[in-house]
Amino acid sequence: MGRPMMKALVFNGNEDLRLAEVPKPKPGRGEALIRVKACGICGSDVHGYLGITGRRLPPMIMGHEFSGEIVELGADVTDFRVGDRVAPYPVIFCGECEPCRRGDVHLCLHKRALGVLACDGAMADYIAVPTKVLFRIAAPISFDVGAMMEPLAVACRAVNHAGDLPGKSVLIVGAGTIGLLALALVKMRNPAKVLVSDLSDTRLAVATRMGADAVLNPANGAVDAAVKAATGDVGVDVAIEAVGATPTVQQAMSCLRTGGTAVWIGNSAKMITVNMQEVVTRELQVIGSFLYSFQEFGEVVDLLNQGKLDVEPVISLRAPMMEKGIDLFAKLAKDPGPLIKVILNN
Ligand SMILES: [Zn+2]
Ligand SMILES: [Zn+2]
Repeated sequence: MGRPMMKALVFNGNEDLRLAEVPKPKPGRGEALIRVKACGICGSDVHGYLGITGRRLPPMIMGHEFSGEIVELGADVTDFRVGDRVAPYPVIFCGECEPCRRGDVHLCLHKRALGVLACDGAMADYIAVPTKVLFRIAAPISFDVGAMMEPLAVACRAVNHAGDLPGKSVLIVGAGTIGLLALALVKMRNPAKVLVSDLSDTRLAVATRMGADAVLNPANGAVDAAVKAATGDVGVDVAIEAVGATPTVQQAMSCLRTGGTAVWIGNSAKMITVNMQEVVTRELQVIGSFLYSFQEFGEVVDLLNQGKLDVEPVISLRAPMMEKGIDLFAKLAKDPGPLIKVILNN
């Protein structure tokens, strides 16, 4: 008798994703086997699929934004049971290196990020994961919302970097998944005003539904002038840049008040052009934000489990993973149109 097999979407090279039979993982010591129920397609997956970033090394299985149900336990697991609904922190850390002992497990020197580089992720029937990275999803929370914990954690770190927000004005540049989730988190912190800019009116309509005080499309006029007008000719206290390209970074910087803070979370272009003189003479601050700590992941799990945050408006499509996953990657790579977050289900 051969090894038990399962279905997976295997990335074989640029723009080459295939439905394949691969060996079903067996949970090792301290691990749980998870039946994947929902897995989001991340912008970084699409970039990897196109071969732009080199962050997906074929052959491999993508998928780091996911949730599912435990179906089998490895040896020495006492903290979880078969049937538990879970969402993993998708960075497997060693727990022993210097950053890990300091508590910064996302900076682990020996980390393996699920669905990144050569490490297999969750676009498969099953995945085996150490239980130390698992968080429980509360009963009323859907698996689809469970798959949103990861992108929400990315947005959470950016908003945490922005500092105290009560009474402040905030501009979010880019109304994709991360920008919109940042909007939801900023709204919870009592800002005076939140503005959102994007080139897509469809995305801006979602931002309005999620509570943006004003939405700005650069196609309809200069964003910096509109932001000045909306802030008493001052500019915003905080700009969260969630695109990562020259025009959007420049927009974020030019909309800031003197002494304001920009949080850069967009991660697309490696090199961009910024007006450094403006940063110097107006004493603007720039903070980079990447991934999330274990604590921040726990923070967003609590928010979603307690129903304090609605991420549903960001989910634009759900589709069966094995039947539609390949077509959806091709579509997102070519032209996402109005699609924001796409979730693949098993
Ligand atoms: Zn992602
Ligand atoms: Zn470590």
